[in-house]
Amino acid sequence: KIHIPPLPLRAIEALNSEGFEAYAVGGCVRDSLIGISPNDWDIATGAEPEQVKKLFKRTVDTGLKHGTVTVLLDNESFEITTFRIDGEYRDNRKPEEVRFTRSLKEDLSRRDFTANAIAYHPFHGLIDPFGGVSDIQKRIIRAVGNAEKRFNEDALRILRAVRFSAQLGFEIDKKTLEGIKATSFLLSNISSERIRDELTRLLLSNNPMKFSLLNDTGILSHVLPELEPCFATDQRHPYHIYNVALHSLTAVKNIEATPVLRWTMLLHDTGKPHTKTTDKKGTDHFYGHHHKSTEIANAVLKRLKFDNKTIDTVCRLVKNHDRQIEPQPTAVRRAVCSIGEDIFELLLKVRAADIKAQNPAFLPDRLEKLGKIRNIYMEIKAMGQCLSTRELSINGDDLIASGFRQGKEIGGILKNLLKEVVNNPELNQRETLLEMALKAQRRKPR
Ligand code: ATP
Ligand code: MG
Repeated sequence: KIHIPPLPLRAIEALNSEGFEAYAVGGCVRDSLIGISPNDWDIATGAEPEQVKKLFKRTVDTGLKHGTVTVLLDNESFEITTFRIDGEYRDNRKPEEVRFTRSLKEDLSRRDFTANAIAYHPFHGLIDPFGGVSDIQKRIIRAVGNAEKRFNEDALRILRAVRFSAQLGFEIDKKTLEGIKATSFLLSNISSERIRDELTRLLLSNNPMKFSLLNDTGILSHVLPELEPCFATDQRHPYHIYNVALHSLTAVKNIEATPVLRWTMLLHDTGKPHTKTTDKKGTDHFYGHHHKSTEIANAVLKRLKFDNKTIDTVCRLVKNHDRQIEPQPTAVRRAVCSIGEDIFELLLKVRAADIKAQNPAFLPDRLEKLGKIRNIYMEIKAMGQCLSTRELSINGDDLIASGFRQGKEIGGILKNLLKEVVNNPELNQRETLLEMALKAQRRKPR
């Protein structure tokens, strides 16, 4: 049983009372049938955009060309889209032009997967010409019509199939999977932004292990070739039980679902295939892999056009993920300072997820050590001990007032003072720091 909330229901009734067909359609119907609560309610109608706009007081022209009008009722908004058939597909991307139609079935037939091609009307019930309800029951993602043809029309659907399979925990139908394998190369025609967004949704899902499908189907070489060698690199080392890719994906699963954390775990070991050496006893080593991993993470995220903040944070987390920190206050303060206070808490999460994806035999000891580091860090924070130049008891202006020359030098002096204060928090007093700065200045050869 599907329950349409009051406002979209009112919109459907308003359209119906003017003689237009109108249905809830797509993701909201799919999610209701699965039993999860829909993000938003999309309405499909036989009315054309101008007719929709006349019917409702407040509307926004979201995508008139594609037949979409956003309607605002009370404080909610939802999209009403005219039944349409997509026009000519060029370059394996969604068409610019669409044609409106009076036929719901035609509208459903242009949709990507059977589970997304079901309509629902409060009186007439489900309209399901492609067997979407049965596929949802069988937990299958199946292309509407000929899979290969549909992926040729719009190659983004290839990634959407994998993403939905991960979000819903569904299998991909055999023919649809064959269609994916045959057309995955077309993804090179899709913009990096759209690839980025689909991959992110896949990683944020409850089944990020489905990422492996990208490797199995050949998609990976067209969207994230840097990950391919990870699937072929095993790790003969007491700490490890998985190959690099499986370890990374397990770590993705182990960490909370934010883009920064999940991309960090995906990329944190990408340098391993390039740094692997095997010793006489047959144990694998990956010396300095975090440098290579950071380099690769940076290249991947830049290509996918992530924002600078995300790139910077992920790269710093990758670079520091393996760093040894002793569970001892001075060591922790030093580590926080050099890694950066802004990401230290994230780094602790990264390390926990990493350890949990390794050999469980060492898990208790390693987690205990990490817990100690966390507690020490919390104490340091609670005591308000200084961990950055910002938290020093003097600032640049104080130095200038004491006769230091304005400019780059000031930053260097503050950094040196921070180093001292981190080793000995008691030094963080105005007088003491000024004295130290002057002393250092006098020592400097002119
Ligand atoms: P969610 O919003 O939860 O990710 P959704 O199913 O609502 O899932 P949208 O991208 O919002 O996905 O698209 C709404 C509907 O439009 C889909 O259910 C599907 O019917 C159709 N659709 C979206 N993108 C495509 C596409 N590339 N090809 C064919 N149909 C599509
Ligand atoms: Mg949606």
